[in-house]
Amino acid sequence: MSTIGQINYPFRTSQTMIAPLPAEMLENELLAKLSEVDRMRLAAHMMVFELKRNDVLIVAGETVTDTWFPGGPSLASFQLPSEDGDAAVEVALIGREGAIGGIVSNGSLPAYATAVVRAGGSFFRLKTAALEQAKLESIALRHWFARYSDCLIAQVFQTSACNATHTIMQRTAKWLLAAMARTRRAEVIITQEELAETLGVGRTFMTQVVRQLREEGIIITNRGAVTIVNRASLQVKACNCTALIENHYDVVLHGIYPRDRRP
Ligand SMILES: [Zn+2]
Repeated sequence: MSTIGQINYPFRTSQTMIAPLPAEMLENELLAKLSEVDRMRLAAHMMVFELKRNDVLIVAGETVTDTWFPGGPSLASFQLPSEDGDAAVEVALIGREGAIGGIVSNGSLPAYATAVVRAGGSFFRLKTAALEQAKLESIALRHWFARYSDCLIAQVFQTSACNATHTIMQRTAKWLLAAMARTRRAEVIITQEELAETLGVGRTFMTQVVRQLREEGIIITNRGAVTIVNRASLQVKACNCTALIENHYDVVLHGIYPRDRRP
């Protein structure tokens, strides 16, 4: 199990990198919706990395020097240590609709949360200094990323309310659906222990919830993965927090939030 407090990950961002083609940047919705001129402005400074699960993008307390844009099915997670420092609770799940890092601040500031890769794949990296320069050159870019900051804050607000008011079952179903919608895969690579840690709940409670979902034929679990076999039933179990966030993204960012409309 990874522990944020100790920062004992085997590597941070050690995987291969190549310069991205502009077409690849379309795998991130936040970049895809930019004008061609603004996208090319960023492309000149962008690199693509193939990252693995648990790679660390940003460490809490350290200066944020990079902004990361997940591409395609890649997922990242903002995490905070639990009170005893023995687990990392997720405060936001970020997929191809968003970004991690300097995009939500102006200039290089210390990070409050650690960000790790939740589902491996392509991540586009932009140095914060290059992002700041691009924002100075383009007011449209500045406004677009400010809008994303607003959406991310809304997402964190809603997570806070969700944690306080919704059941473990509702939150587990919501999280699995969110992961599925972003990755477009029914199989979510996560252990029960990690799922409990992510949602900040006891393992005993998570075991009960997973068992119930399995017995009702909604999910299948095997070593290190949860596969959703009945998405419609899982939706019935979930709270409506994701729908509220989707609505906000619709208004503020023209519907870039990943949706999965399959029955
Ligand atoms: Zn909720």
